[in-house]
Amino acid sequence: MNYDRMERVEGDLEKIASEIKTCKKCPLHANRVNAVPGEGDYRCGVILIGEAPGANEDLQGRPFVGAAGKLLDELMEGVGVSRGMVYITNVVKCRPPGNRQPTDEEVEVCTSLYLNRQIATINPKLIVCLGNISSKYIFNKYGLKFKSMSEAHGRIHRIISLHGEIKIIATYHPAAILRNPKIMEEAKMDWKTIGEEVKRICQHK
Ligand code: URA
Ligand code: SF4
Repeated sequence: MNYDRMERVEGDLEKIASEIKTCKKCPLHANRVNAVPGEGDYRCGVILIGEAPGANEDLQGRPFVGAAGKLLDELMEGVGVSRGMVYITNVVKCRPPGNRQPTDEEVEVCTSLYLNRQIATINPKLIVCLGNISSKYIFNKYGLKFKSMSEAHGRIHRIISLHGEIKIIATYHPAAILRNPKIMEEAKMDWKTIGEEVKRICQHK
């Protein structure tokens, strides 16, 4: 990525983040401590997308900093990549009360204002969807069918956007693995695939 484009992307992401921090466009703003815009290295063009901030994320204003985040770090490190190589964000940017799932309406409002602009700004080569909510949203956005995580996980889908090919991979949400350790082995296999893609893509940033 050349310097001019880096400056532009950085500036655009900061502008989006500052809008998110004061956003009141859906009911989720009412209970939040902090909105969580997302963070990380956007230069290779890899985006990890979770569901929504939890309690720790809400307190710190940063994505994946609680127990699920710790497992995410371990899954990444296990395949030789690190969180510092990728951009991490969520479908919705404010914590739903009691960690309930965001409603379809909240997802629609928040993604149309923010996630879609973050994706368009970063212009990713790879999108990793963490969990059902993220996978459903992203698959639908790009005209792919998402039936279930057990069917979709770990497969590479290729779509052609205005700016070239995007690979899309769905995998289990780390919080789901913590609730159901039986899926750990499958998740680790998914991360082998994801890790190879991340390493390959990040070589020619
Ligand atoms: N779960 C998510 O989906 N996102 C976070 O940022 C943390 C936990
Ligand atoms: Fe705004 Fe999204 Fe937060 Fe709703 S969840 S208040 S749309 S930033």
